[in-house]
Order: sequence, then C-alpha cells, then structure tokens
Amino acid sequence: MLSIGDKYWGQEGKIDLAIETYMASLDKSRAFFRHYFVIIWRLSEKEMWTGLISFLEKLLLKADDAVITDFMGYGINDEGESFALPLARAVKETNRWDVLASIYDKAIAAGPSFDYRTLYRVHYLYGQALLRRNGHEEAGLAPLEAIFHLSAPTGRDFERASIIQLVISNLVPVYLKLAKSKTNTPETKERHFGKLEELRKQFEALGAARTDNSDASIALARYLHVRGDDAGAKALTRGYIVQALEMLSDDDPENDQMSFWNLGRVFSVFDDMVNAPAAWEMMSQSTQADYQAYLDKKAVWEKKVEAKRLAKEAKDAKEATSETTPTSTDGKGDAVDKDAPNHGSESAADDDTQSEDDIEEPDEPDRAIAFCDGCGDRWMAPSEIWTCMDDGGQVQFDEKCYRKLQEGTLAKAICDRDHTFWLLGKRDDAKLDAVPKGSVLVGGQVITQEAWKKQLRTQYVEYDAVAAEAAVVDVSPSK
Ligand SMILES: [Zn+2]
Ligand SMILES: [Zn+2]
Repeated sequence: MLSIGDKYWGQEGKIDLAIETYMASLDKSRAFFRHYFVIIWRLSEKEMWTGLISFLEKLLLKADDAVITDFMGYGINDEGESFALPLARAVKETNRWDVLASIYDKAIAAGPSFDYRTLYRVHYLYGQALLRRNGHEEAGLAPLEAIFHLSAPTGRDFERASIIQLVISNLVPVYLKLAKSKTNTPETKERHFGKLEELRKQFEALGAARTDNSDASIALARYLHVRGDDAGAKALTRGYIVQALEMLSDDDPENDQMSFWNLGRVFSVFDDMVNAPAAWEMMSQSTQADYQAYLDKKAVWEKKVEAKRLAKEAKDAKEATSETTPTSTDGKGDAVDKDAPNHGSESAADDDTQSEDDIEEPDEPDRAIAFCDGCGDRWMAPSEIWTCMDDGGQVQFDEKCYRKLQEGTLAKAICDRDHTFWLLGKRDDAKLDAVPKGSVLVGGQVITQEAWKKQLRTQYVEYDAVAAEAAVVDVSPSK
C-alpha cells in the first residue's frame, strides 16, 4: 500500500489520495520505518503541516507503545533531525504542542528499553523543539536538564562529556536570558544565576573528559563575564585563543578564517569592541583570499581539462587514420575503452587514471562571511552586523531582523531582546582598504598582525603572569 501511495504522490493532483493511502496503510502495518521517514520528509517539504501531524498521531500515538519504541530506536540516532525538525515545525505551525508532548513523553516513558545515546537524543530533540516556542523557553529546560541524570555505560566518559557540554551550551544562553530579563523579579533572576552556577559545576565535574575549547566553555565564559568574574572567564576561553593564534601562525591559510571567527567569539564574550571589528575585518580578508585561491586553482583546472580534451582529440584523430590490428595477446583491441578502467599495468589505462586524479575540480568555497540568523541573508563584507554577545558571538542579525527582534515580531525563536548586542557599523572602505597587507586596524591604529597577536596573547592568555609581573616590577620591553 505504501508503494501505491508513492505512485499517487508522483502524480499531478493526487497528493491527497497519496496521503489517504499512506494513512490507510497504517491500519495494516506500522513496521516500515525507513519509508515513514521518507513520508515525513515529503510532507514537510510541501509544508503540509496538518497532514504531517495527522500521520504522526496515527503512526505513533494511536498505536501500542511498542511502535514508538521501535520507531525511536530505529531512527532517532541516524535520522533524528529529519524527524524532529519537521515535527517541531509542524507543531509550531498548527499550534499542536500537545502532539509534541505526547510523542516525546511516550518515548521517554519507554526509556528503559533504549540505550544511552537514543535516550539522550530523545530528550535533546524534545528540549530543542520546546525552546523554539516563543515565551515558553522554561518548558524546554526540563528535558535538557534530565540528560544530566541519564547514566552512561561505563567506559563512555568522553561520549558523555561531549553530550553534557552540548547540553550546557544550549542551556546557558536560555538561563542567561531569564537571569537578565527585565520582567523577572530580582529573586527569580538570582535563582537563574544559581542555575548557571550549577551548570558551571557540571562542566568542571567532567574533569579530564572536558574539551578545552567547546561551545560550552564560550557559553560559560559569557556567564562569568556577566557576573564580573573575568579571570574565571578568561581561563575558559584561553584554549580558544591559544589554538586560534597557533593556527594563524602556521602555513595553512585555509584555517585562518575559522581562527578569526573563534577570536571574534571570544571578543563577544568580553564585550571587547576594540578587537572585535579587527577580527571581522580579518575574517573577511581571509575569506576573500580563500576565494581568490579557489579562482586560481580553477583556472589551472580549466587549462588541464582543455589540454586533456585536445590530447584526446589528437589521439582519436590519430587512431582513426592509422587503424591498427589488435596487437596484444590478451585481446585488448579496444584497450582505450573508457568503460574498463581496470586494465592493470596496461599503459594507456595507467595514463588515464593518473590524469583523472590530476584534474579534480576544486570545490567552490562560500564567499559569505556570515548570515543573518533571522532571515538567512548573507554578508559578503563586514558591515552593519548586529552581534549578540550573550550568545557568544554565534548569533547575528541585520538591521531589519534586529528591529523585528526588538519589536517582538521576529518569527524565529532565537536570541532575545534582553540580550546584549553590539553593532559592527558600516565598513569604512577608504580607511580599511588603505591598511597594508599584514597589518590590521585595531582601536583606530594600524599595527602589524604580529603585534596584534602579541597584544592578544598578553590580554587573553598570559594575563595573570603579566599582572603578577607588573605587580613586582615593570619588565616589559619597550616597543
Ligand atoms: Zn535578517
Ligand atoms: Zn542573543
């Protein structure tokens, strides 16, 4: 019956019939999970949210509990997003939050029959979906926090640590929003700051299994900065700065863009508006350099393709004129035939394989330096960008979406108007284009990149040693 449904789906004007057939098929069997994921995807692609809700209700809720266990067990790890995102969108569009709760509550109730990873995914996707509901963020915290209490099998400390850090990085901005919200009472705010402190302890408790530079460390550093503990915050971001500075000093220009992006995130944590514009500018320059490198590689590639085409033409022409008899013993009269690549040591084939490797078309890199988290518009230049400091530099808005956020009309549930923002102003082309290569404009002054990196090291990595030394005697060499 599912295949009949598929047939209808492919025919003009028969989509409703297809959905009816899919629904009817569930009366016979609920075992074709792989197929159900395809149906979910199809319905969401056509934005048929009511149909999608009906399908999932029938598949998962109007069935015995074993179905939901099997369904989640089958797909939540591999296909979790392709199930959870359409479901989250559908409940939002149809305001059927009851269906979301029923599905996940039922799945969580079946918990003991899941392994650690599956159970974590169920909680995580549930929390994520709830966080998308404007004004109901607190509801989403519970399933995410429950992940802390899931017991991981022995020997999987690092897997657990990476899961815990992911959850922390999701929770911190929400608690920070609640802790800073103007509508909350001082007591409520204090309670939320208390939660943030608990999260920091959870992070520390991970001990050696912790990652030095995770999203969690950025998120927690922001919390500490907001609370006035910059030394604690810098200890958390040190790993980021060290790695970024190292990558900027190696010979691989391709990782520079990421390094500047990570520097920018740390600057957001500390409201460092002196260094942040420099990080944006340098990120933009390295993006452009990547693109130029791609254009150069592509030109070489095009030349090679053309040369190969000409060589083949010449070869074909030659063969056509000097039609020879099959010479060799193993009957490879048509040895140049392209459909038989495994000619062993046969030389013509060897040449073919080699040049095939040589002329791989280079991948086109993205020319955009960032995109607006409200509407998806992309920035090609570091100009007129609102950055959210509380989301650790991860969330950006253009003017239009920033305004919507402030007015409360932004459709997407992301960030919060009570968060702290910083506007990277309109790029001063004349001034910035005049900065020589290898230098950077920081705080109105042009300095070499090396000098800038040294400053950053002093400010963000060796800050305690510097402070200690300065307390004894000023030994810093004069510049
Ligand atoms: Zn936008
Ligand atoms: Zn934000």
